[in-house]
Amino acid sequence: MGNHLTEMAPSTPFLPHFQALHVVVIGLDSAGKTSLLYRLKFKEFVQSVPTKGFNTEKIRVPLGGSRGTTFQVWDVGGQEKLRPLWRSYTRRTDGLVFVVDAAEAERLEEAKVELHRISRASDNQGVPVLVLANKQDQPGALSAGEVEKRLAVRELAAATLTHVQGCSAVDGAGLQPGLERLYEMILKRKKAARGSKKRR
Ligand code: GDP
Repeated sequence: MGNHLTEMAPSTPFLPHFQALHVVVIGLDSAGKTSLLYRLKFKEFVQSVPTKGFNTEKIRVPLGGSRGTTFQVWDVGGQEKLRPLWRSYTRRTDGLVFVVDAAEAERLEEAKVELHRISRASDNQGVPVLVLANKQDQPGALSAGEVEKRLAVRELAAATLTHVQGCSAVDGAGLQPGLERLYEMILKRKKAARGSKKRR
């Protein structure tokens, strides 16, 4: 585990004051959150059962040449009764990864409501959002573009940087470019925040 993220962002400019990145992985139950985490951690597909309760995973990686930078990933179960917990887990996060099952079109409306709810929560305003349109290996899975439309991603607050990426936890396709974009969006937001502090 670990080197994956180092490999993916060698040319991204490093912000020296970064100590830890906190990224929350979130989505409806069975979207594939746990499988994607396992794929990141073990670089292989691990058969899992849908997340009951919640689990958290920490992926510690040196990023952009810095030693000891921590990329922290949380996985929170998406089951109905647990959704109120989402807010407490997404507080002070640098980035949100919202996972959907792109092969289950019927649940995208439900996913849309949750995505908009979580992104609009006061603590999360402006936090970059990476939507992973997972299960692209399944026949009939909706494309990233279609998922973007159905989730109305462009209707999230104008200040929120977003990217929708098709991926599959089975073969790992799309995961690296998606996380790369998230990392870029996080850096962009941090830089903008630093710039506005200086101007004050
Ligand atoms: P979670 O509840 O969001 O954590 O979902 P899981 O990771 O437990 O996945 C739910 C089910 O979908 C499991 O049976 C996984 O094996 C399966 N799954 C997850 N990702 C993929 C994928 O990319 N492709 C396919 N075909 N199945 C997947």
